[in-house]
Amino acid sequence: MPLLKSWIDSANSPETDFPLNNLPLGVFTAEGAPRCGVAIGDRILDATGLEEAGLLTLSDTPVLDLPFWNEVMELGPDAWAALRARLQDLLREDAPERDAVAPFLYPMDGAEMHMPFAVAEYTDFYAGRHHATNVGTMFRGAENALPPNWLHIPIGYNGRASSVVVSGTDIRRPWGQVKGPNDAAPRFAPSARFDLELELGAIVGQNSDGPVTVAEADAMIFGYVLLNDWSARDIQAWEYQPLGPFQAKATATTISPWIVMRAALDPFRARTPDREVPLLPHLHEPGPMLYDIALEVELTPDAGPATTIARTNYREMYYSSAQQLAHHTTSGCPMNVGDLLGSGTISGPTKDSRGSLLELSWGGKEPLRVGDLTRSFLEDGDTITLRGAALGDGYRVGFGACSGTLIAALPDPYAR
Ligand code: MN
Repeated sequence: MPLLKSWIDSANSPETDFPLNNLPLGVFTAEGAPRCGVAIGDRILDATGLEEAGLLTLSDTPVLDLPFWNEVMELGPDAWAALRARLQDLLREDAPERDAVAPFLYPMDGAEMHMPFAVAEYTDFYAGRHHATNVGTMFRGAENALPPNWLHIPIGYNGRASSVVVSGTDIRRPWGQVKGPNDAAPRFAPSARFDLELELGAIVGQNSDGPVTVAEADAMIFGYVLLNDWSARDIQAWEYQPLGPFQAKATATTISPWIVMRAALDPFRARTPDREVPLLPHLHEPGPMLYDIALEVELTPDAGPATTIARTNYREMYYSSAQQLAHHTTSGCPMNVGDLLGSGTISGPTKDSRGSLLELSWGGKEPLRVGDLTRSFLEDGDTITLRGAALGDGYRVGFGACSGTLIAALPDPYAR
């Protein structure tokens, strides 16, 4: 698909994340209360204002009156398509309603971004083979790197919706119970091995009642965000057996402020890799369910400058979000509008394509060069920024930045 040209010049630049092909959805404040907005070039289109003015009608009653996109998700896939078609009509190069729309545009620079949707529940998966192999090799040796179930099911755990925050929110270093391999007893201490995980988050836009197929699951996905699943490795190593991560993952999960709708990514679909062992029928994919999305991780120490520490691609995953969602429903587990599914850490096959510091520094044994500094895990004041975009011919469908700064732990919360 070629670049779709807009009357907003900045949307036609090959550098912008937000051409007319993209039209991602967010919640912003320019003046007054938060409103639903759409990114276009270096502007935000006030979708709530368009609805109030009668220029954007998706339902008999207003659905953009609250600062969340959940009500639009609830309307279903026909409404999602109608939304994109109408926005493209209003913003295309020869749009007849250009003069009526212009007053609803705000500069993106200086706008404050909020959570784009209300997160119903949050599940995180472990579906990247390179990541699972690297982590497994460190913890169990290369022979037993992948757990015996790994090639048969997308492994996941139930996370906390309450801890999901939007890009720009500071992350406080957590305290927790830790025990090193040579320690006689556990101690309560600030995490000394605090890490990031580069992931993509899939947003469920429809409810389910009973098991769904992979094709049905794909159709239920409203869109995607970048996701940083902050992880306290020392807390995780002690607590995770046998029920998996708990407090190590509950401090915060950062998402990018713009929801890139599934339709915007459709031209960039990619296949999952060949299966090493055949999957059971309920996990069969009817077509390509991954996306070709170039991803990078940038680390900026307190004193700067920024260094790119990893580059990879979402098509490296072994399981797609649609497979994860289908798997999630096999038990009859109801899925709801606003559920968020983390893909699992997206690492590539090479050393510089690993999506966590745990892997990049090989458990701290090979500290990473970051400009003039080195890092095994994150230091106070470090900012992690995730970026990602599907690359078209002369344009990009991007997510904007997913950024968070680690700030120092508070004093011992129980010393009183
Ligand atoms: Mn994760």
